[in-house]
Amino acid sequence: MIKRVFITGGTHGNEACGVVLAKHFMASPELFSGFSFDTTVMLTNVASIGTNTRYVEEDMNRCFFKADLDDPTKTATLEARRAKELNAVFGPKGTSAAADFIIDLHNTTAATGVALMMSPTDELGHAIAAHLIALDPSVKVCNWNATQADWPMLPSVGKHGMTFEVGPVPWGVVDGAVYKQTRRLVLAALDYVEAHNAALARDGPWSSSTVQVHSFVRSVDYPRDASGELAGVIHPQLQGRDFGRLARGDPAFLALDGQTTIPYTAPEEEVEELFPFFINEAAYYEKKTAFMLARRIDRPVQVAKQSPQYELS
Ligand SMILES: [Zn+2]
Repeated sequence: MIKRVFITGGTHGNEACGVVLAKHFMASPELFSGFSFDTTVMLTNVASIGTNTRYVEEDMNRCFFKADLDDPTKTATLEARRAKELNAVFGPKGTSAAADFIIDLHNTTAATGVALMMSPTDELGHAIAAHLIALDPSVKVCNWNATQADWPMLPSVGKHGMTFEVGPVPWGVVDGAVYKQTRRLVLAALDYVEAHNAALARDGPWSSSTVQVHSFVRSVDYPRDASGELAGVIHPQLQGRDFGRLARGDPAFLALDGQTTIPYTAPEEEVEELFPFFINEAAYYEKKTAFMLARRIDRPVQVAKQSPQYELS
């Protein structure tokens, strides 16, 4: 049974659509009454909201490894300290006291549309995703790196959780269409949680479904010169093509002469189809990531059939 839900905004202070939506939700408690679970809405990296930057000293959305949260010496940055405070509010991570479900609101400069990022083993997260895809077929699902045992993202503190990533939006900008779509889908996610609780309480009905998942494979850096400066930019034919197929030899980068195409060069042994996302995300230049690559898999999931009370038109 899902009892404690958190909706968080401002984990990156310049992702303004999520910040404004969280503030709206905080001022609108009536939206969250009448459910069988409690919903708390809060701002997380408050200092970075004040400075309208992604972070002040360190990317807070890389501060939630359980080992770091449990390490009392990991307090060097403002964000590391804030992560520990937040872990006390909706964690502690990995314990029975942790929140049941966390939605962390983000925006990206990449043309991802709505992309829900979650643990590959999060059954409820994928069921929510299936529900949202039924309402809005443009919604995409990404899995955090399945080869890792733990992740440093804020929503990984909850028993279930997702990064609610929406783009493209420039830093500090609230895009009305993105705002409207995000608000509708976040509230629809809560409707699904209610249906999930109802199905648990009456032992069904559940239906078998599948969700198309983009499973992280690796990151690709920009071409760089010997001193690490950019030697190429995202190719115009790749710009904005998040979740389209990228095949060996396709244009990936444009050299700084503005003429020379630098093709995508896959390793010899790589024969599977891969799909790029987070193409030209502004925050990832410093992380040496021009785009990420995912493989597509169809993941089975059990979905609570909606009771009429929560059916959405
Ligand atoms: Zn973010």
